[in-house]
Amino acid sequence: MSSSPRSPLLPLETAVAQLLAALDDQPVRSEMLSTLQADGRVLAQDVVSKLEVPPQDNSSMDGYALRCADLAPGRALEVSQRIPAGSQGLPLLAGTVARIFTGAPIPPGADAVVMQEDCQEVPGANSSAQQIQVQTQPLAGQWIRRRGEDVRLGATVLQCGMRLGPAALGMAASVGLAQLQVACKPRVALFSTGDELVMPGAVAPQDMPPGAIYNSNRFFLAALLRRMGCEVTDMGIVPDRLDATVQALDDAAQAHDFVLTSGGVSVGEEDHIKPAVQQLGRLDLWQIAIKPGKPFAHGRVGAAHFIGLPGNPVSSFVTFLLLVRPFLLRMQGVQNVALPTQALRADFDWPRADRRQEFLRVRRNTQGGLDLFPNQSSGVLTSVVWGDGLLDNPPGRAIVRGDTVQFISLGDLLG
Ligand code: AMP
Ligand code: MG
Repeated sequence: MSSSPRSPLLPLETAVAQLLAALDDQPVRSEMLSTLQADGRVLAQDVVSKLEVPPQDNSSMDGYALRCADLAPGRALEVSQRIPAGSQGLPLLAGTVARIFTGAPIPPGADAVVMQEDCQEVPGANSSAQQIQVQTQPLAGQWIRRRGEDVRLGATVLQCGMRLGPAALGMAASVGLAQLQVACKPRVALFSTGDELVMPGAVAPQDMPPGAIYNSNRFFLAALLRRMGCEVTDMGIVPDRLDATVQALDDAAQAHDFVLTSGGVSVGEEDHIKPAVQQLGRLDLWQIAIKPGKPFAHGRVGAAHFIGLPGNPVSSFVTFLLLVRPFLLRMQGVQNVALPTQALRADFDWPRADRRQEFLRVRRNTQGGLDLFPNQSSGVLTSVVWGDGLLDNPPGRAIVRGDTVQFISLGDLLG
């Protein structure tokens, strides 16, 4: 064990840097996947376009393609061709216009499109030819989407290490990719420790024995892991016994990249995670200078990475976001794993500065400021449900109403 309860508290930044360093020598495993299935996955290779998008100048309106120089007040122009989307026009005859539809290629010779609402059909000199009069003076280039204006040939449109969302999938498809090279999902084994824990559904609320509580961590941790792109094996609750804990950890390490536990990492308690991990691999126990969430364990169980989160639900939730999230993203090759913060106004006082960096549960209000949940205890999960983010408060800082503070949106973290 590298630290004891008396060791100085470890700054969060240092803890995250050390966790990430454990992944430095580990290549990102990747696989080919259908673009349709790749939402939320991390790209393992740059996407370089092998064509221009759009491939040709085309119309962004239903209307008429023409040469601006052909227009004169009161002059009617013959409609010499019709170009629907998906077809190819002919060179535009001088002094005529082409009927054109959105997405159809601009015929050679035309230099603008006039929308149909700005044109009027007029009777032609002979009955077969259709003629129009243009009621505005178009600017050269108007309503024309230029070849390559979205994507140039050879451009890197999506970067290795980015997390794919709906827009990125559309972009991959627009340059013709039906499959993408993406990071494999981390295989994660999850279990909870604690003899007081009961699974919802196993015992009705009115029948809960004294001292028992429902296992809430298992539910939000499994969901958080999935949001981070993991494949989760839920290994249930491990009893507070060393042999059972060793067995569970050993099983978990076999076919998983990462083992995550909650509970049993605080100091001086009925706690078997520490000796069990030490028996099977190696363990660093940290006291991180954050509130909530001071105790934190990490190391290896066999070849698998291991992280042990504190049991208190809010501590567990917050330490997941602060430490496990960047770790799992980096395991998938994401380079930028920093917390996305924004400066907002505190609409409350927080007079009790703490020597640790605090992550207060707050909520944006309709005046653009932040409200504070009144009970900031690490056992009060209501604060996380009520809040829509965390206020990142540096050590030793009291907050006065009106101060500018750093806000981290839960939506940004979970996206
Ligand atoms: P521990 O870290 O095991 O000392 O647990 C700290 C506190 O968190 C205790 O009050 C536990 O009952 C509670 N706790 C631990 N694990 C869970 C869990 N999975 N769900 C809800 N509460 C938990
Ligand atoms: Mg416990």
